[in-house]
Amino acid sequence: MAKPLSILFVSSEVYPFAKTGGLADVSYSLPLALRELGHDIRVMMPKYGSISERKNRIHEINRLRDFAIMVGDVESIATVKSSAITTSRSKVQAYITTNQNYFEANKGFYSDPITGIDYPDNDERFIFFNRTVLQTCILLGWFPDIIHCNDWQTGLVPAIARTDYAEEFKNAKIIYTIHNFGNQGSFPASSLMKTGLTSPEDIAKITHNDRLNFMKAGIAYSDQITTVSPTYCAEILRNEQSSNGLNEVLRSRGDDMLGILDGVDLLTWNPKIDPFIAKNYDNLSVQDKIYSKEALLHRFGLPMRSNTPLIGMISRLNEQKGVRLIIEAAEQLFAENLQFVLLGEGDPALEAGLQEITERYPEKASIKIGFDDELAHLIEAGSDMFMMPSLYEPCGLNQQYSLVYGTVPIVRSTGGLADTVREFNPQKADGNGFVFQNFDAQEMVSAVRRALAMYSRQDVWSMVVQNGMTEDLSWSRSAKQYSELYHNLMQIEI
Ligand code: ADP
Repeated sequence: MAKPLSILFVSSEVYPFAKTGGLADVSYSLPLALRELGHDIRVMMPKYGSISERKNRIHEINRLRDFAIMVGDVESIATVKSSAITTSRSKVQAYITTNQNYFEANKGFYSDPITGIDYPDNDERFIFFNRTVLQTCILLGWFPDIIHCNDWQTGLVPAIARTDYAEEFKNAKIIYTIHNFGNQGSFPASSLMKTGLTSPEDIAKITHNDRLNFMKAGIAYSDQITTVSPTYCAEILRNEQSSNGLNEVLRSRGDDMLGILDGVDLLTWNPKIDPFIAKNYDNLSVQDKIYSKEALLHRFGLPMRSNTPLIGMISRLNEQKGVRLIIEAAEQLFAENLQFVLLGEGDPALEAGLQEITERYPEKASIKIGFDDELAHLIEAGSDMFMMPSLYEPCGLNQQYSLVYGTVPIVRSTGGLADTVREFNPQKADGNGFVFQNFDAQEMVSAVRRALAMYSRQDVWSMVVQNGMTEDLSWSRSAKQYSELYHNLMQIEI
């Protein structure tokens, strides 16, 4: 094994403490996988009001109690607490930043859970968090070799490390991973002064379209930028759509860009040991999926029908995830012999559109609005097919979980979906799913029809299922790529 490194991994969501999507899963699995490779890795995140100290074994550390952090010219008090993420195989130290006003008082992470409206002080909340991250290292006397930041919520960490604390962190290499280029942390110009960065050059590097842009800061000040799949990497460099013009800035760092695919944490997402499904199974006992299918249909109030495939979907309900296509194509989709269950929350208009479908096709479609981790596992196990018609998808974890669970993905060819799902070809017995190219309801319906045609031939169907279930999608593969990247940056021979 190459030299172990000290690594600080900064994220606004870490499973099981806080999760709205894939970022939390990555911020759990990747540090654990890097720990298994021998690195001293520690994660840092905010403590939102919904995180229970007792349940998560969070406790105080004397050295990190009540220290001052400036947000603009206002002083706030930070206390950083300690916990850990653990599996049966390894354990990673977690530092959890608390502050009454910015985090403890809020039950939501970025927006009010009742109204769905973003917190008005999100700029201050994450400036505070970013400053606390570096101050914590200083108080601990721990100066990691690598600082690995993730998404907009951590974008100012590289900027602060390279300006205010340039001396302290001069030996650290900084990596910035973009999990979603669509959310950049853009705030009015009046937020700029709150960052504490004052020189004109620094202000220019964190300003985009006359606004503070956290993600631009991350891109500008890091040594290396990564994103979560090779195809998404190419797409965001090329694509002006929904990039808010930031792709120009990204292109100027094109030589320092790399796409590394996320993996699957096989201790959490694995039908062989999953505690949330009706009966455990593996690729040699796929027929036992039926028990989870029965349980799932029951949970969603749908009747069990033989020879009728069940399509599952777990998704944030927004433009990105392509829910609109399902609503647009409902009439054609539900004319087919299929059933559909969806778990998700988000845009009320999309929720209403889906609800309307369930009223029109009460025996075929059912949805649950909300966030339910256990039910998500049952959907992966109990569905025959899994739908991800995304407009864009940086990596996508659910299609990978689906492959592991023998649940055949139907996806649009974009980002990480294009890198992980290959159209099934019955002649060659090759491929693990069904793929359509354009963001178009008709193309999606055609892909579903191709899947239904294969489903009706059980011998052929079992080939698609087996192809997915026998792939290596584990995190250890991706963690090795990150580890190699860290060593390259440190110019250490591997
Ligand atoms: P994204 O990060 O863009 O939301 P991913 O596919 O990368 O999409 O990851 C989504 C993760 O969040 C998966 O673990 C998925 O199961 C989970 N998830 C999304 N919505 C829900 C929900 N409503 N309830 C439970 N889990 C959810």
